[in-house]
Amino acid sequence: MFHTSYIEIRKSAYKQNLKFLRNQVGEKVKISSVIKGNAYGHGIENMVLIAESAGIRHFSAYSTDEAKRVKHSSTKKSEIMIMGMIDDVSLPWVLENDISFYVFEFERLKVAIDMAKRLNKKALIHVEVETGFHRTGYEWEEKEKLAKILKENEPYISLEGLCTHYAGAESISNYVRVKKQIDRYNEFKQWFFDHGVKFKIHHTACSAATLSYPDTIMDMVRIGIAQYGYWPSQETYMYNFKNLEENQKNPLKRLISWKSKVMSLKKVKMGDFIGYGTSFMASRDMTIALVPIGYSHGFSRNLSNLGKVLIHGKIVPVVGTVTMNSISVDITDIKEVEKGDEVVIIGRQKRNEITIASFGESTQQVNYELLTRLPQDIPRKIIA
Ligand SMILES: *Cc1c(COP(=O)(O)O)cnc(C)c1O
Repeated sequence: MFHTSYIEIRKSAYKQNLKFLRNQVGEKVKISSVIKGNAYGHGIENMVLIAESAGIRHFSAYSTDEAKRVKHSSTKKSEIMIMGMIDDVSLPWVLENDISFYVFEFERLKVAIDMAKRLNKKALIHVEVETGFHRTGYEWEEKEKLAKILKENEPYISLEGLCTHYAGAESISNYVRVKKQIDRYNEFKQWFFDHGVKFKIHHTACSAATLSYPDTIMDMVRIGIAQYGYWPSQETYMYNFKNLEENQKNPLKRLISWKSKVMSLKKVKMGDFIGYGTSFMASRDMTIALVPIGYSHGFSRNLSNLGKVLIHGKIVPVVGTVTMNSISVDITDIKEVEKGDEVVIIGRQKRNEITIASFGESTQQVNYELLTRLPQDIPRKIIA
């Protein structure tokens, strides 16, 4: 291999996750696959292929560059929605390719309408309303002005959806805030209905909301982390635990495995320091294996003297500091390790497993962050 490590993505795991999610939301609800952040590190092109083969026909991107990658890799004419950034210069591309997008401020709405007129093409918009997340979205006080503009420009816009996003549906500590958001969203919905502004669909739920607040499911759910096989939080898992079938206590399966191999071996004497500085001193004569992945590959420096990997099915510790391109691991207690032997950084090897969560806990990075930090240039391969 040309690269020092590679990532495997398991298609069968995706199918299982989707089956579980489909069960949660029922047959009628559309599932949008959220592929921002390079599809949470999995690679947008890979995930479009896998998701489409599992029946997904709607993708949510954050920005135009991501939407473009979905467009180029889709073979099923799936719908694409942009939830975040669109630069004015890329708006013509968005309109011409029938990509729907969030509108959360008057300036953007105006630009979208002007562009739609110029191109003689309807802007497919989702109106995002502010319900308490305080990131983007129209304020309650702006609804009259908004409704007026929407009505006046009916020929140029198609009202695809009315949407919002919850501020922490993965933790019960945000319960009151999320409940208030749901109420406020419903007030918006009712108000627009009463004033003759009709949206094709209503959508508010991310993974955590889908799994913990069934009221938020509506016509479509925007599923990110759960489709990749992770609970949004330990709490979401505990909340769902009682309803899970006995024989399948964890229906969400990790898609990713990250693997490398032993680059070289070295003997060190008791009292020697390993790597930069003095953070690790050998307390006995040791054998060290060098693994060619480091912080430039997303293996955080915080894992210095803390991280663990699998070799020959055994859990072995990182010793010394994580460097830019390599780590040293202690293999003194494993017999017959050779150069070229497989090293598992995330995933299963024989009877042991290193999950993203256990990896993440030692650095306080959550699943989301760790996944999206896996560099785009590590080769990904899809396995059955
Ligand atoms: C990221 C995101 C989602 C998906 O969130 P998950 O927790 O990964 O399911 C849904 N909606 C919006 C607006 C998002 O930004």
